[in-house]
This record gives sequence, structure tokens and C-alpha cells, in this order.
Amino acid sequence: MTASSIDHLGLDLPRFEPGWVWLCGAGPGDPGLLTLHAVNGLRQADVLVYDALVGPEILGLARPDALLEYAGKRGGKPSPRQRDISLRIVELAKAGKRVLRLKGGDPFVFGRGGEEALSLVEAGVPFRVLPGISAGIGGLAYAGIPCTHRETNSVVTFLTGHDATGATPDGIDWAAVARGSPVIVMYMALKHLDEIRRRLLAGGRAAAEPMAIVSHASLPEQQVVETTLGTCVEDAAAGGATAPAMIVLGEVVRLRSALDWLGAIRARAGERAGA
Ligand code: SAH
Repeated sequence: MTASSIDHLGLDLPRFEPGWVWLCGAGPGDPGLLTLHAVNGLRQADVLVYDALVGPEILGLARPDALLEYAGKRGGKPSPRQRDISLRIVELAKAGKRVLRLKGGDPFVFGRGGEEALSLVEAGVPFRVLPGISAGIGGLAYAGIPCTHRETNSVVTFLTGHDATGATPDGIDWAAVARGSPVIVMYMALKHLDEIRRRLLAGGRAAAEPMAIVSHASLPEQQVVETTLGTCVEDAAAGGATAPAMIVLGEVVRLRSALDWLGAIRARAGERAGA
């Protein structure tokens, strides 16, 4: 089957040609957050090269005869080098495969999608980019936290809590971020939260400022720790916050008390189950 089985929607979605790579975002986890382009790609791809954050339900949408290649960390072993992943994708495309490169969230947001795309350009492999819902936006929405809100912020900063070496990024002007961005949305920040807290407090942020740590956003195991900048490290540990997690600092976190729609749905389902 090469025709997309979402053809019945009547949309003119692209045909996946052999020898092409589609660099695709899979969203934060809930399969319902896949784009139609992503599903169209999943239905046609010969090979899926996927990362750790792409779950089995999403992979299950692939053609039954598609080859699934894992490109992430496995069992404590270091992840394959980025260069090796890029070379593999090029190799598959040159062999005439339709290659769907699936990444969590959006491929161009802290996902090294740009690097992979550049390798494709260098190798002369034609590609398409299928954007996805990034955890920093959609993941927070699943916790009932808007990343902007008219009364609180007209600026939001997305940053990564560790750089290519795994350390807290020195490339970030933490004082400037602390001063200039009322809402700070942090990817990959759980490990170095202590250091990040130190830098943000030094930059003038109040210890009492609300923070939320959203683990496994949009998945059944989603968990949210509501805390403050001053007590975040201790509360994260006590609350059992685990990676992958989005961390958000700012007044928007307070909106969750009214907007936690998923919590409300779960509570209702719990009442029904308990009745
Ligand atoms: N390209 C991805 C980000 C990849 S970096 C995107 O746009 O979302 C990996 C980091 O993303 C994780 O360390 C975590 O901070 C965040 N992340 C991805 N999926 C997540 C999820 N379901 N819940 C919470 N955080 C998530």
C-alpha cells in the first residue's frame, strides 16, 4: 500500500516518493497530537527511524511491513552519534527507501532536526519537514498552562537546560533571560535544576515565583509538580518528577488551578470508576 489511508479525508496530502526523507515531528506523546502530514507519512514510509520519545502507539500507525529502526539511547549505552544517524538516513534514502525520520515534539525545536536536514542537503537527498507540536507548548497545554496569557506575559523564552556537552548551557545569558522573560519554558532542565535555580535567583527572580514541572506530558502517566523557584529541586524529588519533563517558570503557572482540564477529566473518570 502506497496510497495514504487517510485519503478519504479528501485532502491533497503529498505522496511519499522513494528516495525521500520526511523529517517529522511526532508531538509530545498523545497520538492524537500527530499532524495529518505525520499520519500520511507513517502510512507510506518504508522505514521509520525513530527516537526514544516516540511511543509504541505512534509506531503502530506505520505500514505493517515497514522497517522500524531505533536511533536513540538503549539500556544505558550512549546514544548513537548524530553523525552516524545522519549517515544512516542518507544511506537508506540513497537505497531508494521512503524514510520517515520521527522525532519527539517538533524536529526543529531542540531536536537536532536542523543538523540532520543539513546532512541531507549535503548528500543531495530530497526532503520535507513535517512540523510537530512541541512539548514546550502542547505539553504545557496538557497541564492547563498557557505559555502566554494577555495579562501576564507578551514574551516567552524557550531554552534548553543542557548543552551538547550535557552541562548547564553557558551560552545562555541567564541574567538577561531572568530580567527579560516573564515566562521561561525549559526543556531538558530537570538534571541541572539546582544550577538553573541558582542562576535565575542570581538574576533577580523571586524565590516565591510559581513553577510547574510537567513529566510525560500528554501521556497516560503525565504528572505535574507545582512548586516555586525557591523549592523546586526539593519538590521535584519529593514529588517524583521524572524525565522527560518540561519546566515552566512564571505567573502563567497559576492559571492551572482553573485550567487543569485533564485533571478534571481524570477526576470525573475516577468518580465513575469508583461509583
Ligand atoms: N523536539 C522536542 C524536544 C526534544 S528535547 C520538542 O519539540 O518537544 C527533549 C526534551 O523535550 C525532554 O528532555 C523534555 O524536556 C521535553 N519533552 C519532550 N517530550 C516531552 C513530554 N511528553 N513531556 C515532558 N517533556 C517532554
